[in-house]
Amino acid sequence: MVGYCPICGKPVYFGEKKRSLGRDYHPLCLKCQKCNRQLTAGQHAEYDEKPYCSHCYLKMFGPREKGPFVILTLMSVTGCR
Ligand SMILES: [Zn+2]
Ligand SMILES: [Zn+2]
Repeated sequence: MVGYCPICGKPVYFGEKKRSLGRDYHPLCLKCQKCNRQLTAGQHAEYDEKPYCSHCYLKMFGPREKGPFVILTLMSVTGCR
């Protein structure tokens, strides 16, 4: 099954995909959409279906109830799917 990278919109094949927070990315596409920092799968924040590092996330959106730490906690519970 081929997924589509939410960043560039191109297909992500099994051998190259980087799965994080329920989406498949190209390894090079999984970077902060603000500062372009490379992100570690499952260890970044997400807003409006785009990945951000937690630093930029907190700077832009502030510590809200759906912050990166809440997301990370949810992922560790459902992460083995
Ligand atoms: Zn991509
Ligand atoms: Zn960033």
